[in-house]
Amino acid sequence: MYLNRLMARYRMAGIVAIALLAGAAGSWFYTSAQQRRQPAPAPVVTPQEFQRIYGEAKKVGLVIPPFESPATAPKVVAAPTSPGGPPSDAVVLFDGKDLSNWSSVRTGGTAEWDVTDGYIQVKPRTGDIASNYEFGDCQLHIEWATPSTVKGEGQGRGNSGIFLMERYEVQVLDSWQNPTYFHGQAASIYKQHPPLVNVTRKPGEWQTYDIVFTAPRFDTMGKAVENGRITVIHNGVLVQNNVGIHGNTWHDRSPYYIAHGPRGSLKLQDHGDLVRFRNIWVRPL
Ligand code: MG
Repeated sequence: MYLNRLMARYRMAGIVAIALLAGAAGSWFYTSAQQRRQPAPAPVVTPQEFQRIYGEAKKVGLVIPPFESPATAPKVVAAPTSPGGPPSDAVVLFDGKDLSNWSSVRTGGTAEWDVTDGYIQVKPRTGDIASNYEFGDCQLHIEWATPSTVKGEGQGRGNSGIFLMERYEVQVLDSWQNPTYFHGQAASIYKQHPPLVNVTRKPGEWQTYDIVFTAPRFDTMGKAVENGRITVIHNGVLVQNNVGIHGNTWHDRSPYYIAHGPRGSLKLQDHGDLVRFRNIWVRPL
């Protein structure tokens, strides 16, 4: 009887105690099962070990190392002192004074064009002039102006030309409201590529060409294995974007290459019009 009474008194407490014990045991089993499921921690690799593995991977081509800096520093060049002026490494072909750096293409003697007020002007019927200095790949700056007195039309108005290596013409023309065939207007690669846009200034106004030229390459048999390429910026605007040159410039037939050496003169064209040039400099590349 006594036992029965005791059991009755503590039955509820016993049930609660057993429930708590069961809960604690379940939680322990659950937690330890979770822990057993976690992956093993990654092994620690020392920096030395990493270098060794990296070196092995590089050896068998599994790792491509970053480009290393070249050993030689880019040459220091003094920037132009005025916009459009020559930087310190440029060869100045005309600085406004005289034609001592130029010759007549026709005679091989003195260039006969006129020099006035810091510019050269075409002297019609004396023929083209060419720089005494020869170069291939280059950056070229040249300024030009067509006559302010407009006369003629199409190809007959303010026509001249800038011939790289005496062969490949960047057209100079008064293309201000002066229609002509598109691959013959100002800033065209004559009869090959029209300019991307027409950014020609009015007649008489000074205009700029900044040109990057890559000369064609020929094999020993005289075949062009790489075409020449040219980029032209006219008055600060891109008009020829690294276009391929198809060969020598002609007005009456398709262009084709005739092998030549790695350097040539810069030729300016006498097309009979009073076109002016100034501030001509080149950086051989
Ligand atoms: Mg021309």
